[in-house]
Amino acid sequence: MHYYSLNRQSEPVDFRTAAVAGQAPDGGLYFPETIPRFPAGFLEQLPRLSSAEIALTVLRPYVGTSIPEPELARICAETVNFPLPVVPITERISALELFHGPTLAFKDVGARFMSRCLGHFSRHETRPVTVLVATSGDTGGAVASGFLGVPGVEVVILYPSGRVSPVQEQQLTALGQNVRALEVRGNFDDCQRLVKQAFRDAALRQRRQLTSANSINVARWLPQQLYYVTALGQWPHAAPPVVAVPSGNFGNLCAGLLAYASGLPVVHFVAACNQNDAVPQYLTSGRYAAQPAVPTLSNAMDVGDPSNFGRILELFGHQHPVLRQLLSGYAVSDADTSATIARVFRATGYVLDPHGAVAYYALADYLRQHPEQRGIFLETAHPVKFPEAVEAATGQAVPIPDELRELMQQPKQSTLLEPEYEALRAYLWE
Ligand SMILES: *Cc1c(COP(=O)(O)O)cnc(C)c1O
Repeated sequence: MHYYSLNRQSEPVDFRTAAVAGQAPDGGLYFPETIPRFPAGFLEQLPRLSSAEIALTVLRPYVGTSIPEPELARICAETVNFPLPVVPITERISALELFHGPTLAFKDVGARFMSRCLGHFSRHETRPVTVLVATSGDTGGAVASGFLGVPGVEVVILYPSGRVSPVQEQQLTALGQNVRALEVRGNFDDCQRLVKQAFRDAALRQRRQLTSANSINVARWLPQQLYYVTALGQWPHAAPPVVAVPSGNFGNLCAGLLAYASGLPVVHFVAACNQNDAVPQYLTSGRYAAQPAVPTLSNAMDVGDPSNFGRILELFGHQHPVLRQLLSGYAVSDADTSATIARVFRATGYVLDPHGAVAYYALADYLRQHPEQRGIFLETAHPVKFPEAVEAATGQAVPIPDELRELMQQPKQSTLLEPEYEALRAYLWE
């Protein structure tokens, strides 16, 4: 399998090169040259296959010869060593719970797969590889946990002091081993600026091999197909489901559309956004306009110009009418998000997080207009990661899950850093 740049000014590359580089030299996103079909009989066998077996079948054609099969099988098994259950909420709506991984959010799958691929590619490197990430909260935790204990890889995370939630801060600072946290006296933009400057510093890069764990990396994007395929394996109805995806940067939904293009039976997709609605606007009007991001309750989806939108267009040959047939867009307000958390809790006892609530609202609305259909929404985070919004809506505290209790008791270890490049450079030069 080769990947070309959507900017079409760089050479096509194999999986290894695309995963190590992250972005093409021309600044474009990498896209697979062909979309493989699932092998014959695969969909019928799904209910009997493990997540690891499904991952291996789905990802093998994309990885090609970059990783030998036994090694890829091991990576797949380590990537999904936790359940991805479909849980019925009402007669017509089920949740696909993606928050049973180590950081309680769906980004675990992509981060775990990517980290193990990069670990494999750097195994003969004499210089250790340093993964440098700036985070506003969730991504850093998933990346840190994904790389934890991977030999030959060191992770350095920059996060804005005082601006991440207590759970997120523990997930960044209490892991130890090969993960180091830099607490920057500044905001997320400062963190991102420092990281970008380090990547431009040729002398530093001579001394240390730097890699990014960017969300557009194919090794983070492609494994997300697994959610949709394992969900279909658990779907008890003959008619295929509607699938609603809470979307920000659109990597997750784009992976679902890719699985659909490979043959996965889904009757319709719903792009569930908060007030950051560039893609729903496009679906309605056929015109795309990036917007400045606005803050909302579902803050992991506060993206004004989603990176993966270009991949969705490419997948559908830039045919707006074709895409519109398959995909509906919703922009859900914070008021409707809170009301949905409260209503679903009262009616069923199920506790949604704000991101899942956006998708629930959109799916319920879509199903009202399609009374013969049923659907699945992706619940992308555990409610404990967004306790304020959830407790305000339900009137009850969210209990801390057992998996997290131990981590919450570990000592926090971080290094305070002034938001100046010289400080980061000195730290990395050691
Ligand atoms: C990142 C994230 C999203 C958005 O996913 P995209 O792939 O960027 O569209 C949704 N929910 C949660 C909890 C997230 O962390």
